[in-house]
Amino acid sequence: MIRHQLPQPPDGPPPDRPRPHPSHATPHTPLRPMWCCRACGQPWPCAHARLLLKVEYDDNPVGLSIYLCGLLYEAARDLYRLNPDDGPSPRDLFTRFVAWGPFRRPHAPG
Ligand SMILES: [Zn+2]
Repeated sequence: MIRHQLPQPPDGPPPDRPRPHPSHATPHTPLRPMWCCRACGQPWPCAHARLLLKVEYDDNPVGLSIYLCGLLYEAARDLYRLNPDDGPSPRDLFTRFVAWGPFRRPHAPG
């Protein structure tokens, strides 16, 4: 029996990137809590969002990694609340949110 519950971590970053391009366009940002793209309806980050994020964070790959990891945390919280019995696997979420970003390492042989 757990007598003390661990504190809830604070919220992650607001999902407000990538910025819209052109500036009057609907941004390819996530619609919560489903985490689909508000512009194209694809699972976020869609191909457009990934491209725009890579451009926006071109000089700050560490910042992009931190942003993506923060949104992975937010998405996991939302998606497991929406679908507690059949949510996406942690591996799938990591692949979707973080693995495409900077600092990828090649798969280990074998
Ligand atoms: Zn999109």
